[in-house]
Amino acid sequence: KQTRWTPKDCEPKQLPIYQHKNKLIQAVRNSTFLIVTGETGSGKTTQLPQYLHQAGFYKDGKIGVTQPRRVAAITVAQRVAQEMNCTLGREVGYQVRFDDCTSQDTVLKYMTDGCLLREVLADPALSQYSVVILDEVHERSLNTDILLGLLKKVFSNPREATKGRSFPLKVVVMSATLETNKLSSFFNNCPVFEIPGRVFPVSSMFGTAVGPKDVESTFYVKEVVKVALDVHTSEKAGDILVFLTGQSEIERACDLLFEKAENIDYRYDVQDRTVEGLLILPLYGSMPTDQQRQIFQAPPPGIRKCVVATNIAATSLTINGIKYIVDSGFVKQLNHNSRVGMDVLEVVPISKSEAQQRAGRAGRTSAGKCFRIYTKEFWEKCMPEYTIPEIQRTSLTAVILTLKCLGVHDVIRFPYLDCPEERFILEALKQLYQFDAIDRRGRVTKLGELMVEFPLHPGLTRALLKSASLGCQDLLLPVAAMLSVENIFIRPGQPDKQKEAAKKHRELAAKTGSMNDFATLLSVFNSCKSSDRPSGWCKENWIHWRALKSAFSVETQLREILLRLQQRRDFPFETFDGNKSELFRQCLCTGYFTNVARRSFGKVFCTMDGHGSMVHIHPSSSLFEQDIELNWVIFHDVLVTSKMYIRTVCPIRYEWVKDLLPKLHEVDVYELSSVARQ
Ligand code: ADP
Ligand code: MG
Repeated sequence: KQTRWTPKDCEPKQLPIYQHKNKLIQAVRNSTFLIVTGETGSGKTTQLPQYLHQAGFYKDGKIGVTQPRRVAAITVAQRVAQEMNCTLGREVGYQVRFDDCTSQDTVLKYMTDGCLLREVLADPALSQYSVVILDEVHERSLNTDILLGLLKKVFSNPREATKGRSFPLKVVVMSATLETNKLSSFFNNCPVFEIPGRVFPVSSMFGTAVGPKDVESTFYVKEVVKVALDVHTSEKAGDILVFLTGQSEIERACDLLFEKAENIDYRYDVQDRTVEGLLILPLYGSMPTDQQRQIFQAPPPGIRKCVVATNIAATSLTINGIKYIVDSGFVKQLNHNSRVGMDVLEVVPISKSEAQQRAGRAGRTSAGKCFRIYTKEFWEKCMPEYTIPEIQRTSLTAVILTLKCLGVHDVIRFPYLDCPEERFILEALKQLYQFDAIDRRGRVTKLGELMVEFPLHPGLTRALLKSASLGCQDLLLPVAAMLSVENIFIRPGQPDKQKEAAKKHRELAAKTGSMNDFATLLSVFNSCKSSDRPSGWCKENWIHWRALKSAFSVETQLREILLRLQQRRDFPFETFDGNKSELFRQCLCTGYFTNVARRSFGKVFCTMDGHGSMVHIHPSSSLFEQDIELNWVIFHDVLVTSKMYIRTVCPIRYEWVKDLLPKLHEVDVYELSSVARQ
């Protein structure tokens, strides 16, 4: 018979955490720091905050819960609001970057770790909170790691801890598994509360498709589709969870699955006679939330659910009823690439501990199976034991500026749970110096104080502030907004539609009269905004209306921040004495002079940041394979596949960066490092 969760399964009172309710409340009362661990799905995220609410903690201040992922913050808040029978945004709310769904009444607030970090900046005592819960700490996201250090620094010392507060803050650190000893000793040997979970055995099988030689290939999408269909046709009833790396792959896999599933003859092809259909559901970060809700619903009788997800389904969100896992073995990760000297999104093999976590998702309610598409050899040779914390593999520029603005000058001896490499810290200081956010002695400049207010990459902030100084923020605000939302250009899967979309996108680029991807973003933003039927306009032009709508909202929010800053008496206004038509690109150069490339030969460009990486213009750019004289360009980011591609590209003149480029080599990192230690 089909194993499916009945609503009873997820009744809050049935969850493992429920039996420990009173002891947990007591444990939070008894100490400043508390570590809570338990299997994924035991009820930590949705239940513990509610228990503390019931125990009356909210009377002293809000209960705040951080999540490394924005989707998790939103979905969990929705769920908890539903369980507490209140409207989302009233007692229970959420806040993620550019989307605040809270009100005066909000006492239980889910948010991203980045949001809490910004709140610390405005109010280091976190005086509005009675309890702060850092959740999903095992993910070791950069912002959560920084928060761990800050909370330890501020609240370890009883005298400091009550500064600016009428009562001491409670800090709860929650983690799926692992590292509890390390966390406890980090917080002065604080107590650890373990929620015993029930887990069922999961048998894992290796495949034959991906071996050590396939680290850089992408045929695993087809392979996971094949394996998922095999499971569907040959295994007993029970839902499937497929792990892939990102939105476009997931959409492609879902298309393929649809296509293949249509041809299944349930009378002959499927072994389990109770299975009569397949429900295919994607799950990734930037999905519309109403679509996400479906993921948690039980499929109709006889239908097998197949969720194709990113790593978000590994620990942040628990889907009930999963019996089979199909693991691609890969994850998309932001890594500092020392070849390119900047952060790039890369698809890399997951760690062994991550693979075990993924497999575990099949054993929540009964025994399960995990089908890995990679070989045992791939496991042994290509997969590291543990995932490296983000703080040790990405650029620290933004957080170091935040720390400096919080008065943490010694950014090297800050209490990190795991220290980043010193060269990463130096790299960040160097960048901040190049953007004029700190001076030679490592002190935050006026400009740095303005920059920290924007939840954007420092380079983009720098360009935006330059445009504001020159009174042309209307050029940069839309661009900054467009670069802060998911990709707005639709890339359909079918080849003929793909051509049609590409043609439309080329027309949009041509309309600007300049081959400049930033100008295209600006033009798309403005054309859609001034259209009478914006959603229709998007449809005609193969643009994601939902993404563009978020860009409109982001632009408004950035504009508000800017207006607030421009009212400060010391806002640096300037005049522009160059050619007006070049104003836009010159503003961009102020923030992107770290991303300059010069034509080397043929279609190959060479970056000017001292790394001299060979890069190619990405096919999505309007400059791709254009026969124009093109010697100098700036670009927004780099994508590394078999080659290094630069995306969102704009031609520039050497004169505009001539005075800025030396800055890349001028600063003496030793001087900055001695300052960092002061
Ligand atoms: P943990 O944080 O310990 O991993 P959670 O509190 O996230 O556990 O989940 C507890 C239970 O609540 C799980 O069974 C999960 O499936 C269920 N749940 C969480 N969010 C939702 C939702 N949006 N819809 C339905 N069930 C949910
Ligand atoms: Mg959780």
